[in-house]
Amino acid sequence: MPVPMDSDGTYSIKQLVEEAHEYEYSPTVPLKIYLTTANRLKANANLFKEQDHYADAYKLYIRFLDLLTNKIATHPQLSKKHPVEYKRYLMLVKQASDVFQSAEDVKVILSEKIDRYQRLTKKLADQRAKEAHEKLMRAADELKKKRQEEEAKEEQKRVEENANHRSLSDNESVISDISVQATELPIGSDSAESSSKFQGLRRKFSDSLFNHNAAHSTPHLEVVESYPTIPKFHVPAQKHNLVSEIEGPPPVPPPKISSEPPSNIPPLTPMRQSIVPAYSSSSGKILGPSSVTEHSHAGSTSQRQHSPPTTSIQHKPIAVNEAGKTLKKTFIPLELKSQFLEIASSNTKRKLETCGILCGKLSLNAFFVTTLLIPKQESTENTCQTVDEELMFDYIDKNDLFVLGWIHTHPTQSCFLSSVDLHTQNAYQLMLPEAVAIVCAPSIRHDVGSGDFGVFRLTDPPGVGVITKCQRSGFHPHNEGNLYKSCERRNKGHVVFESGLPFIKHDLR
Ligand SMILES: [Zn+2]
Ligand SMILES: [Zn+2]
Repeated sequence: MPVPMDSDGTYSIKQLVEEAHEYEYSPTVPLKIYLTTANRLKANANLFKEQDHYADAYKLYIRFLDLLTNKIATHPQLSKKHPVEYKRYLMLVKQASDVFQSAEDVKVILSEKIDRYQRLTKKLADQRAKEAHEKLMRAADELKKKRQEEEAKEEQKRVEENANHRSLSDNESVISDISVQATELPIGSDSAESSSKFQGLRRKFSDSLFNHNAAHSTPHLEVVESYPTIPKFHVPAQKHNLVSEIEGPPPVPPPKISSEPPSNIPPLTPMRQSIVPAYSSSSGKILGPSSVTEHSHAGSTSQRQHSPPTTSIQHKPIAVNEAGKTLKKTFIPLELKSQFLEIASSNTKRKLETCGILCGKLSLNAFFVTTLLIPKQESTENTCQTVDEELMFDYIDKNDLFVLGWIHTHPTQSCFLSSVDLHTQNAYQLMLPEAVAIVCAPSIRHDVGSGDFGVFRLTDPPGVGVITKCQRSGFHPHNEGNLYKSCERRNKGHVVFESGLPFIKHDLR
């Protein structure tokens, strides 16, 4: 099967298995959170697989299997005393063999991509070595040619000097001849005989001078006959032609120096996507660019407007977490915040929190929040708890959505993540490291739609590890600092707010 070239091939199976095991687990975190996490890992892995993101898919399948068999299976709350959780666990165990099979299928495709990448890398290295060798050979040839030309010049100079020397000798003999014969003339003689003799001598002298000049203007012809491999004339513009006459075919011009791989070899790393595609909720597809962001390709926007995405154009991750792991670029519609505040306004007026779930799609290696889901919930002034989660996940699964984070209001407080929020966010990041928490603090001093606003994630490390190990519940202090941070693009994060991206609102209440 044709295998698209992307970053998948740059991994090794061993590396992916290791990364799959790199997550925080604590038996003090409630079992139901891990059951939900396991479900989401499986769902996300399937979505990644459907979109040919095999490395991501494989990692999540392995994480699911590890979480289920090595962690959840030993969780202290896993007993018949908790029948709901126990039933959910048994359902997951039933699915494990399918997940294992999916992981094996993905592994086969990945291995092929890794092999192909390694073959291409080798081919590229060979080609570069060959080009370097050829460049050296060409440089050596040039040097040799230059040396030959220098030698030819010297030889020509020597020949010319000899010719000069000969001409000078000839003139000297003519002059001496003249002077000898002149002495023979009778002084003051104006006889016709002596006059004609003198004219003859003058002609002889003149001819000798003329021949001398002629010798100077055409000596090369003779030289060429004697040294046929030497260029006849030094005319720089025709140098190569002359050389070619002598040596046969012209030298191959040196290739352009370029860091780009040759055109017949696809790039080994995903290309930067310079245009933001828009997500169409009606067709379920990313249509193409809605605006130009980092680079402006004049004239290409309209042309690409309706073309389907290709595997060669990918969004490059723009941020890494504190462990250096890349985070996929995540687009959130700029208008989502104000529309959420509108939905929340009746609660906000009563000083009650409201929460929503940010769901979305993966496209061109970037996430797009496409759905603002309002789950059934119970609120207080400073908490908000989802209820009937099954209903919520049913909707998410039926629409093949990733859970990309959550959004909630702080009607009476400022914009920050409370200790309870930190524990909630930890569960989201366990499912997907790109998941974010948006907090809106619509201060009563402002109209709806304004107020403080922030988008955050737990640092990893230390945030994720500290919160996973923290056994406390309710509002409680954490002694450690630097547990979460803003993840907006302007703060070097992975979240980009983009105006005009389509999204839908779905209220389950
Ligand atoms: Zn909060
Ligand atoms: Zn805590």
